[in-house]
Amino acid sequence: MDAFIHLSFTSPPFFLGLVFIVSLMVGSFLNVVIYRLPIMMEKSWKKEYQHYFHPDGSLPNPQPFNLVKPDSTCPRCQHKIRPWENIPLISYLLLRGRCAKCRAPISMRYPLVELLTACAATFIAWHFGPSAQALSAVLITYILISLIFIDLDKMLLPDQLTLPLLWFGLILSTQAVFVTPSQAIAGAAAGYLSLWSVYWLFKLVTGKEGMGYGDFKLLAALGSFTGVMGLPIIILFSSLVGAICGIIMMVTQKKGSSLAIPFGPYLAIAGWLTLMFKTEIVSAYLNWVLA
Ligand SMILES: [Zn+2]
Repeated sequence: MDAFIHLSFTSPPFFLGLVFIVSLMVGSFLNVVIYRLPIMMEKSWKKEYQHYFHPDGSLPNPQPFNLVKPDSTCPRCQHKIRPWENIPLISYLLLRGRCAKCRAPISMRYPLVELLTACAATFIAWHFGPSAQALSAVLITYILISLIFIDLDKMLLPDQLTLPLLWFGLILSTQAVFVTPSQAIAGAAAGYLSLWSVYWLFKLVTGKEGMGYGDFKLLAALGSFTGVMGLPIIILFSSLVGAICGIIMMVTQKKGSSLAIPFGPYLAIAGWLTLMFKTEIVSAYLNWVLA
């Protein structure tokens, strides 16, 4: 273990390679989280509903369903995924993207999430070098990637992910990893309140709900990392990312389709960019203002 830590500090290629491989494996686990967490939530809502409204109804004793149980199977033939079929990226390539038994195609998204996780984490490792900032930012990235894909799939930002992210940001601030405690607390509060106010204003004017409470919690969490000073940058980035994605969707999709677009992915990407480049952005801005 000591040798690993020593090598991480002395050999950048070793450090980056280690982060890449570990993150590929984590990416494989994130695929499980992205798929199973919403199902676990639905199951627990159903159970609560039963508990409140049909307390006498006999509940069928359900099979355990969580992040580790049951084993992953092919959705078509129920073939149990064996360990060698579960190696990130490599198995997908070896199996040419098909189930080992029934040859049903496996979604491209699984290897893409693995690759995205590994590339984002390796970039962070390169950007910050071996440090508490790198480790924290990598953990944050894992959670953000899960949130992005769950929101895309289900229009849902689970409290199980947004709230720990917020706590994590506040705890990190006690060691001033990214920002000071007062910056982090103000960032979390202002992040929540800014979207909360937009939500109510929008609702009062149009009678519609433009976003969900998960979005407020996510921006609160992001504000706890970037500080209150990071929030304007996040808002700016999320409108930019939103505009770019909107244009891409307008070009690729048919006209008149009024798809509800989740807001979480834009916030998450913008928050990530702000965490990475806040210092560069602020100094570029100051140079421009003071020039
Ligand atoms: Zn199959």
